[in-house]
Amino acid sequence: MLVDSHCHLQDPKFGREIDDVVRRARDAGVTAMVVVGYDMPSSRRAVEIADSYENVYAAIGVHPHDAKTLRPADIEELGRMADSARVVAIGEIGLDLFRNLSPREEQDRAFQQQLDLARSLHLPVVIHSRDADEETHAVLADHAQTARADWPKGRPLGVMHCYAGDLPLALQYVDLGFVISIAATVTYPAAEKTRAVAGGIPLRWLAVETDSPYLPPQDKRGKRNEPAYVREVAQYIADLRGETLAAVCDGTATTAARLFGLGDIGEPAAEQAGEAQ
Ligand SMILES: [Zn+2]
Ligand SMILES: [Zn+2]
Repeated sequence: MLVDSHCHLQDPKFGREIDDVVRRARDAGVTAMVVVGYDMPSSRRAVEIADSYENVYAAIGVHPHDAKTLRPADIEELGRMADSARVVAIGEIGLDLFRNLSPREEQDRAFQQQLDLARSLHLPVVIHSRDADEETHAVLADHAQTARADWPKGRPLGVMHCYAGDLPLALQYVDLGFVISIAATVTYPAAEKTRAVAGGIPLRWLAVETDSPYLPPQDKRGKRNEPAYVREVAQYIADLRGETLAAVCDGTATTAARLFGLGDIGEPAAEQAGEAQ
């Protein structure tokens, strides 16, 4: 099993090649993918794509970059879209104080409104946090406190996607009930902090992702990323942890399945056993 917990197949960079991209992912052993929305059109498209392919799921939500566009009618529409069994999370939502494409108060408002929506729908959240370690943690600690009372025991509350903070903060998120998802940024030369996280979090709380078409692995930088390459992320983490590729694929896939409530996500990747050093 191998799950790409976060990709954007609806991105214009994939154009009409989605069929090929999904096929290459399957060929690479990817058994499930979550297509994540970032505004209303991309969220609608994520559900369409999830409806079209087996073991492809959707997350719907408005990114902090577009926070200023989020209207009350959008919250209502997201709530209706979530009736689809293919919708497994609200996201990506959060705070981006690096690019600040929406004013801070609009980001806070959109983040809170979508957290409230997720809580009312009993859906996990996909969190984007950039240059906002303390701010995001404070908001999610509050969310965890209210959501916990009414949450299935052992089910994660959400995932910190493309996690870029340090290990102590990652462990705090795990304590709150959040999965840590590692992207191919872990393969970049300057990513010591991310490597410490990828090596220091129990597999039970670790997921892998591509965030494709963005953030390709180091040996493909400058090219378009795609879900098939999540295998390289898993291989890199396996080498880093001194575990087999199969252990990291199955472990992170099980975490993603528990997070998103996925059912059957494919045959165990038995043929991969023993490949890793
Ligand atoms: Zn993001
Ligand atoms: Zn993303």
